[in-house]
Order: sequence, then C-alpha cells, then structure tokens
Amino acid sequence: MALLEVKNLTLHFKVSEGWVYAVEDVNFTLDSGETLGLVGESGCGKTTLGYGISQLLPDNAHVKGGKVIFKGKDILTPSLKKNGTLNGYLPAIRELRWKEISMIFQGAMNAFNPVQKVGEQIIEAIRVHDKVTRQEAEDRVIELYKLVGIPEDRIDNYPHEYSGGMRQRAMIAMALVHNPSLIIADEPTTALDVIMQRRILAEIEKIQKKFNMAMIIITHDVSVVANVADKICVMYAGRIMEYGNIKDVFKHSANPYTKALFGGFPNLKGERKRLASIPGNPPSLVEPPSGCRFHPRCKYAKEICKKEKPKMVTLPSGQQSLCHFAKEVQGGGEF
Ligand code: SF4
Repeated sequence: MALLEVKNLTLHFKVSEGWVYAVEDVNFTLDSGETLGLVGESGCGKTTLGYGISQLLPDNAHVKGGKVIFKGKDILTPSLKKNGTLNGYLPAIRELRWKEISMIFQGAMNAFNPVQKVGEQIIEAIRVHDKVTRQEAEDRVIELYKLVGIPEDRIDNYPHEYSGGMRQRAMIAMALVHNPSLIIADEPTTALDVIMQRRILAEIEKIQKKFNMAMIIITHDVSVVANVADKICVMYAGRIMEYGNIKDVFKHSANPYTKALFGGFPNLKGERKRLASIPGNPPSLVEPPSGCRFHPRCKYAKEICKKEKPKMVTLPSGQQSLCHFAKEVQGGGEF
C-alpha cells in the first residue's frame, strides 16, 4: 500500500470573474522514503496541489472531486458551507496535518513570528500536540538544531538575527518536530544562493533517509528535482502533463511541455548549446484553452489538440504522458 495516493483530485476557486480551474484530475502515488518533484511554471497549480494535500486551502476553494488517501484512509474531508465553499477541515485532519503531514513553507522569514524567539516558536509547536514539559520540548529543539546544523545557542535569537540559510534550516526543524511520515516542501531553497541551496537540499535528503520520510518538493527549478527526486510530476495549467520515474522522464520524455521545460535548463555534462525558452505565457486558469491546455504554445500541436482533451497514456518505458502524440514525441521523429 502506498503511503499517499492522490486520485482524480480536482480543486477549483470561486473568484469574482468566475471559477479558477486550478487543479484538474490529478493522480499519483508516493511510498515511504520516496521523493516526488512537482514542477512547472508559476501559476501551474503545483502549490495549490500541495496545499490541497495538506489541507491548507483558502476559504474560496472547492474540492470538486477526487480523493487523497493517506495510510489507507481518505483524508479529504472538508466541512463545507451551504453555498459549497470551504468552511475548514475536521479536527482529526488538523491533528494529522502536523503530526503526520507537515510543510516547509516558501519564504522562511514570513513563516516565523518576527517578535518571538525562533526556539520559543518551535517549543510551542511541540507542546501544541505533545504533552511534554517545557524542558523536554527545549531538549527536542536542541536535538533538531543539531540535526539541521544550527548551533544550539541560536535558540534564543529572533528571526531577523538568523541568516537566510539558517532561517530555512529552522523551518526544516519546525517541520520535523513530530517526526512526520510526509513532508511537503514548497520552494524550500528558492531564496538562497546556489551553495546554500545545495547544502540545504543535502541536509533534507540526509534527514529524509534517516527517518524514511516521504517528501514532495514543489519547485519551478528542474535542477533541484533532478538532484533529489525519485519521481516527477510535470504540471501545466492545472494538469499533470507527465508523471513517472525521474530517470525515465529525463531520458525518454514523452511530452512536449516536459521537453520544452527541460530545454530551459543547462546540462553541465552535455554539449554546449543555447537554452531554449517556451514561447508565450501560461494561460489564464479562469478561461483555459480548449482541448489540450498547452496547444497555443506547443510546437507539435495539430488540429485535434485544439478540439479534444488528450488522455493520459502509459508508455512502455513506464511513465505517463498527457498528449495525443505521446509515443511519437518520445520517439523524436516527425509526425
Ligand atoms: Fe502538444 Fe497536442 Fe500533445 Fe498537447 S496534445 S502536448 S498540444 S502535441
């Protein structure tokens, strides 16, 4: 049994202009100890999907269908108002959220209260769920600080006294307080320089292996995923365009959007060539394009792509691709 199974998940938002079709019919699984990279351009729905799984969606979110099965139980049990909008989640889910599924948020500076010492904030997070003394909670923070590489005398500092890398490490410590089975990390290293990024990712990987935790890394940076993930979900305009084992997708991509996205990242080992960018912009999710949502930007698009939604195709190489011409695109020939 997979640790996490997302089945046909569909999430929309009600806004003054109508509906935002943010996440459509998403499917994937994740086992303990595995890392899934969720990649795509800004606004593709990857953060909404992460927040949907951890159930931190705003009030105007509507769960239009699907399941989030965690350890064999469907945990998608929001309470809804009469008009169908989100009224919050059931208490049992809130409990599960930090003990079993926790998050590393984007921008650690904003995630901490600026007028409270960082160590105090983590102690509070421990004592909200666990009946432990203050001293026991402080000992746990010291243990976590050691794990993520922060000197223990920094417990008494305020967030502004930490460097960017240290705040991010403290955020990771906060996510680990209850030894969760799944961590969802939303752009965990975006604000950091490349060297610090590498160090933090190595730290996360080490901790994950030690505790056999599963992880979902949400990022627009394909190179981050290439370094740490076992599996990848490539998202575009609310849909999964390609999903599978990281090696299969990198070596034999069967989707034009994945190929275009990977074309924008440098390959240090391969021949030197100009990086390609994807022409045009991601579409509005209030009025997404007909047929395949990528068709206005796709160099392979044919007439059928404008009219018919593609179906997910499973390739002999193992991955899945949402494209009318998945086999031909993977083959690399003309069609
Ligand atoms: Fe491109 Fe058509 Fe495939 Fe969409 S279905 S990715 S438009 S070839």
